[in-house]
Amino acid sequence: NAKSHGRNCFRFFNQQIQKDAERSAELHMRLKSAISNNEFALYYQPIVNPHNGLIVKAECLLRWQYDGRFISPDEFIPIAEQSGFIVNIGEWVRNEALNTIAILQQRGLTIPLSINVSTIEFWTTDLQQRFLRYFDEKQSEYDAGQFPYSFITLEITESLMMKQLDTINQLLNELRHRGMQISVDDFGTGYSSLSYLANFPVDQVKIDKSFIQKISMGARHEALIEAIVSMSRALDLTIVAEGVETQAEFDFIKLQDIESVQGYYFHKPMPQQAFFELLAKQSQTTI
Ligand code: C2E
Ligand code: MG
Ligand code: MG
Ligand code: MG
Repeated sequence: NAKSHGRNCFRFFNQQIQKDAERSAELHMRLKSAISNNEFALYYQPIVNPHNGLIVKAECLLRWQYDGRFISPDEFIPIAEQSGFIVNIGEWVRNEALNTIAILQQRGLTIPLSINVSTIEFWTTDLQQRFLRYFDEKQSEYDAGQFPYSFITLEITESLMMKQLDTINQLLNELRHRGMQISVDDFGTGYSSLSYLANFPVDQVKIDKSFIQKISMGARHEALIEAIVSMSRALDLTIVAEGVETQAEFDFIKLQDIESVQGYYFHKPMPQQAFFELLAKQSQTTI
């Protein structure tokens, strides 16, 4: 009957909450030693020019593997954020990305890399200063003027900007002044996409894959993408379409004024070695 059904539901939810709590406690504990145990790897997902398929850029995506299993970033990044580990993890990611840029430069294969930055890393003015200091210190390891700022894009999400508007603005201006680009990730899914663009100095938007997945589900969805594109044009922003998986999605994107595309239709995220090989092959066939 309805009453015992309700009780079973309650028990089910209780068990689920308990299981979730145990899982995040375990991940929290394991994350603490993930860097020192070498459990992280950075993968690279190429971003291509839709008109010729050439790789113009790549996004760095963190992978965590322990006991032979991959844990999704969607599961462990929130735990890393709550625990504050994300600050060290973010620096690990940037170190790794800078190594990769250095290797690409040695091989004459340099393209810009896009690096995700967590909201938490800009949360307080102390953290903002630490973020900048990281680049100051790294820069001192390079010859004057040689630090590859112009090959770095930072991806930030819209939820970032609710706090500390002035100091974040200053920070973003400083990063751009040094030559980095700022990209708004998951564009269109946050709460204040539009005021965000009016208030912050950004260079690029990444149209969230939830919009791309609705292509061919009706004219209304397609009109939304067209509106994002024309607004981005008016604001002088470059555009990446994220999560392009099918021919139909790609056909629609090609008709838009969008300069770059990322998605399984072209390439999945791959380990560093495979990424190097792909770029080397591309440079051989285009020379
Ligand atoms: P994101 O920054 O929006 O990254 C794009 C996500 O979409 C990646 O998931 C990528 O693998 C996935 N993707 C790319 N093309 C397709 C496609 O065609 N179809 C589908 N279904 N998915 C596609 P991933 O690697 O699982 O990362 C998830 C999220 O975790 C990222 O979303 C980002 O928010 C976060 N993340 C990943 N690496 C880092 C990092 O180094 N630092 C920080 N702070 N966050 C990270
Ligand atoms: Mg991203
Ligand atoms: Mg995204
Ligand atoms: Mg995301």
